[in-house]
Amino acid sequence: MANPMWVERRSSMGSAPADKLCIHTATTRPLSIELGVDAYAAAGVAGITVWRDALSGRDPVAVGDRIRDAGLTPVSLCRGGFFVSPDAAARAVAVADNETAIREAAAIGVPMVVLVCGADPAVRLETARDQIVGGIEAVLPLAEELGVQLAIEPLHPMYADTRSAVNTMRSANDLTDRINHELVGVAVDVYHVWWDPQLEEQIERCGKRIFAFHVCDWRSPTRDLLTDRGLMGEGCIPIPQIRSWVEAAGFNGFNEVEVFSTEYWAQDQIGYIDRIVDAYGQHV
Ligand code: ZN
Repeated sequence: MANPMWVERRSSMGSAPADKLCIHTATTRPLSIELGVDAYAAAGVAGITVWRDALSGRDPVAVGDRIRDAGLTPVSLCRGGFFVSPDAAARAVAVADNETAIREAAAIGVPMVVLVCGADPAVRLETARDQIVGGIEAVLPLAEELGVQLAIEPLHPMYADTRSAVNTMRSANDLTDRINHELVGVAVDVYHVWWDPQLEEQIERCGKRIFAFHVCDWRSPTRDLLTDRGLMGEGCIPIPQIRSWVEAAGFNGFNEVEVFSTEYWAQDQIGYIDRIVDAYGQHV
């Protein structure tokens, strides 16, 4: 907190408030989590979402301490899920891995694990959603014991073959209704749901079950379906409108910048973080 560079940079940022700005470590993947924490704090960023690959070889308790010592709030752990498989043994492995993620979240001190729920081309989507419910229910006792929330993130339907059988806010709401547990909610990522004509009504339906809000932009044309996300303002997603809907529904948490981009990963990451802060102030 006492880092003078951080104080100076934060106070010179201008009018755009960044007190709800969180960055995912995957956004600045070339930086170690230690360098990322220092750079985010120096740029006036308020929160950090930790991707599990950033924990590799590290003690999650120490990572959490380092995040808080820098003045950042740990927001989420990404990611658990991938509950779907035609093979029961593989589903059991997934449950165990999600339990590990829940323990890591508790050790870091983040309130939630975000779930990319899973899909498999060999499993019908209806069956996949049953397996997802089963997987979440299997890990809920540990989540309860450790007080960790689980956020179902609906993914764009282009990922319905291998990444998630939950592809709309409506589908995520239906699953959270089925599970009906206070620790199970939804992560709204504009990249995945912006196109949906039912988005506003389904965000309203989700209400207090909105646990997280992820922002980036949809580049047109998109050159890669996974690693060509744009910075806010570079594409066609009406981010402030969607933010207004999630906040009207009762969400009051961080706006998390999650940009997978081989183009940006190839650039100087410190300058890139300043661009993120700028884009956040103008387009979120
Ligand atoms: Zn996301």
